[in-house]
Amino acid sequence: MSIVTQQTYSNYINGTWESSAGDTKASINPARPDEVVGYYTLSSADTLNKAVEAGMAAKDAWRKMAEPARGNILFKAADFLEGRLEEIAETMTREMGKTFPEAKGETMRGVQLLRYYAGEGMRKNGDVIPSTDQEALMFTTRTPLGVVGVITPWNFPVAIPIWKIAPALVYGNAVVFKPAQEAVITAAKVMECLAEAGFPEGVINFVTGTGSVIGQGLAEHPHVHGITFTGSEQVGRGIGQTALSRGAKYQLEMGGKNPVIVTEDADLDLAVNATISGGLKSTGQKCTATSRVIVQSTVYDSFKEKLLEKVKDIKVGDGMKEDSWMGPCASESQFQTVSSYIEKGKEEGAELLCGGETVPEEKGYYITPAVFDRVSPDMTIAREEIFGPVLALMKVETVEEAIELANDTEYGLSASIFTTSIQHFLSFLDDIEAGLVRINAESAGVELQAPFGGMKNSSSHSREQGEAAKEFFTSIKTVFVK
Ligand code: NAP
Ligand code: MG
Repeated sequence: MSIVTQQTYSNYINGTWESSAGDTKASINPARPDEVVGYYTLSSADTLNKAVEAGMAAKDAWRKMAEPARGNILFKAADFLEGRLEEIAETMTREMGKTFPEAKGETMRGVQLLRYYAGEGMRKNGDVIPSTDQEALMFTTRTPLGVVGVITPWNFPVAIPIWKIAPALVYGNAVVFKPAQEAVITAAKVMECLAEAGFPEGVINFVTGTGSVIGQGLAEHPHVHGITFTGSEQVGRGIGQTALSRGAKYQLEMGGKNPVIVTEDADLDLAVNATISGGLKSTGQKCTATSRVIVQSTVYDSFKEKLLEKVKDIKVGDGMKEDSWMGPCASESQFQTVSSYIEKGKEEGAELLCGGETVPEEKGYYITPAVFDRVSPDMTIAREEIFGPVLALMKVETVEEAIELANDTEYGLSASIFTTSIQHFLSFLDDIEAGLVRINAESAGVELQAPFGGMKNSSSHSREQGEAAKEFFTSIKTVFVK
């Protein structure tokens, strides 16, 4: 298969692909930094304005369209995306480095998300509530927000945009989508599938550019009624404050420092496999990735031995090669961040058992999977989100201590426990501070029909996906008919 390279991707505004004033930038392949995947524009604030105004002009007719008809357009978009699955997955691998099988899985997830939300067009969107007045009918109905700004990260460049855009559209909002620069070409191809599906002009708009101009511009724009953001905590906080200050609705999904607990009664092989898969797939660049591995002392050494044996065997390489299990970091800056955390871990006294090295024979931004031992709770690598292939092992005596340590973080996205004890399972379920609670399953991995989101600093406490999306993308009208 070959995909067109070196093409410049435009913005999609009011039903047409059009270029914008602004410098053109290359999106490059982190496995081969001299390879350009495509070009895009650093668009101006004027271009963003045009996109928002297109959404403003389109939103009322879109809101009034029958919901099943809105859903039908999403079904078409799903078919177009499925038809280009391999090509878009290859673009993703080449643009941000995750392996081709993972990229295909994610693209298929995008197809499923489109179909799920297409079906939402046929489901109920209100309740009848008994009134104390016997001559009255009381019920709720929902209305869209208006124009919604969608700001997404690079780590899931197909699934995350779709799990925001599809519900926004089916519930009747117009959308302005600003993708992450690191995966903008992949996002542009998703946008092509949406465009081909035939939404009315202005209902869905796509503007490339920097976070500071286009992202911040969306957060500030008086005609953007809701902002949904996934990305880092620092950027998310700023967007939340900006939206709050002008009374817009906002939703933030941010970082994680996800723990896995391994108790002495656990199936150690299962726990090892899940730690590797949850911690190192996608080169550790999942918001739900396992980062802290908290193990009971009685099984600590045998768990460590089994883990190391498997981690050392991991094949790192270009995600398009069949034998690569793990690809490069998504970008040079990501590579530098991860490298500096590894240095910091060593400086602060943790013991690097394996990995954390570059791959000299490869030109890409590769780091071999790193396992640190003797990590104490106050070390930087135990506290900050690394977003790379780094596991921090921590030893505890009791399960109570393990849960306390797991909660000793400002984040609360996902947490796993490996245990065969119902008692441990119940304590964990009760006491863990995480939006995703996983028992005998890796910390990463979500199902699209269930609510997704974090506690503490991982989220603005709203939820995405499944039916939860309706809560963000609509407002309730309580209707009283006498
Ligand atoms: P990021 O740097 O925060 O960027 C996210 C998006 O925000 C990008 O589109 C970025 O644009 C834009 N942006 C940057 N500065 C902005 C500003 N001042 N105003 C408005 N928008 C701005 O995050 P990332 O590096 O792409 O992604 C990694 C982070 O995402 C990690 O922290 C990870 O945990 C988090 N994440 C969370 C979830 C979740 O569901 N909880 C899922 C996936 C990832 P540019 O590309 O132009 O910089
Ligand atoms: Mg890239």
